[in-house]
Amino acid sequence: MVSLPFRRSLFAAAFGLAGHRRLPCHHAPAAAHTSSGAGGQAETEKPTAMLRHLLLKLRATGPVTVAEYMREALTNPGQGYYTRGGGIGESGDFVTSPEISQIFGELIGIWYISEWIAMGKPKAFQLVELGPGRGTLTDDILRVFNQLASLLSKCDVSVHLVEVSPKLSKTQALILTGGKVQSIPEDNSAYMKGVSKTGIPIFWYRDIQDVPPGYSFYLAHEFFDALPIHKFQRTEKGWREVLVDADPEVPDQLRFVLSPSSTPATENFIQLEERRDHVEVCPEAGVIIQRLACRIEKDGGAALVADYGHDGTKMDTFRGFRNHKPHDVLKAPGTADLTADVDFSYLRKMIQGRTATLGPIKQREFLKNMGIDLRLQVLLQNSHDTQTREQLLHSYDMLMNPEKMGDCFNFFALLPHHRLLHPDKKHKPESKAPVSPVAGFDELLLK
Ligand code: SAH
Repeated sequence: MVSLPFRRSLFAAAFGLAGHRRLPCHHAPAAAHTSSGAGGQAETEKPTAMLRHLLLKLRATGPVTVAEYMREALTNPGQGYYTRGGGIGESGDFVTSPEISQIFGELIGIWYISEWIAMGKPKAFQLVELGPGRGTLTDDILRVFNQLASLLSKCDVSVHLVEVSPKLSKTQALILTGGKVQSIPEDNSAYMKGVSKTGIPIFWYRDIQDVPPGYSFYLAHEFFDALPIHKFQRTEKGWREVLVDADPEVPDQLRFVLSPSSTPATENFIQLEERRDHVEVCPEAGVIIQRLACRIEKDGGAALVADYGHDGTKMDTFRGFRNHKPHDVLKAPGTADLTADVDFSYLRKMIQGRTATLGPIKQREFLKNMGIDLRLQVLLQNSHDTQTREQLLHSYDMLMNPEKMGDCFNFFALLPHHRLLHPDKKHKPESKAPVSPVAGFDELLLK
């Protein structure tokens, strides 16, 4: 268990003002990225520019992998869903935990500070967020860092955001810096820089490889689920890859087909011992988690990954969202969010023991261990109107209810091996003393 007195003191310091950043959301969002199934869409729409582009390509060169389709639909430089701004938030297509409640980001801020303390208060750290969306999560974390300014006064903190969407990076800049940012010439690793409202330097990159090396705390919230997946189907003739093709019978319509023989991806990604009939693999997630693990192993730090997912057990999780409703993944590409559950067992495999891993544990357990109930009580005590109190309770329910986001979202951490070794054990391996606990993870699920 996390030691409560320590957590309480961080809490007291971080939440001294006990106030609100903003009102939590008003309305229950119909979908928080969690309903499954592709869903249907009755209305016929004019083909989007993206669909026309894809149909031309498919007719000219044949079917593409689901991964290629997903990459085009989400991050095509002209027409991709995220490139055009994505629809995060109540007025968009899906809502995420940091957008639901400020408490979420605050507790994550506390997690980083508690790890920074546990690792001996290094003199500098980079907070590196992958896929920051609207920038809300980092904003909430930086508010906690600001509350703990005296604790961090001797620490050189900088923020590094990895974002492919020019539109979303503008939104992030507005929220985090008030819009005071500078573009950086192409030959530099960062494409934009600014200073947070609380005085912390912020840099933007397109790729994790561009972020300078150094002691870093990484954060990936609903990032890995947006990366392109390959899909495979077991058939009588062996494993086949699911591909996307133009439907020859219906104009302007896409359809799934199976590869006539196995593809390079089938050979590489299906394990001999695989028992499922349908498998989704996200090689890009594997490459990125491996990079994080290498960086943590070499330069120190930790990573927190939060997403919906499974441990190598689920089959068909590819789905789309538009206007908070399930959306057919093959309809109107570029206008809907496409997503698939994260396979944490695959991430763990790709880490190859370079770091220790904790979790995945359910969001409601992680947030409970981080003290969400205590924080809610403080906010409730300090809010005097019924509407605010109702909103606080409603957003707590969204995050914690097992039927809503509490059970399907998971927290998974990467930590240097030495972090989970009691200091005594380095010198006295026979020592039975427990390791210093990692906040949020109530038991050390070392794998
Ligand atoms: N973390 C945010 C947003 C999640 S949406 C939240 O929880 O609210 C996914 C985010 O990842 C968006 O910011 C999107 O633009 C970004 N993204 C998607 N694919 C990416 C890629 N390949 N590289 C970097 N960012 C990416």
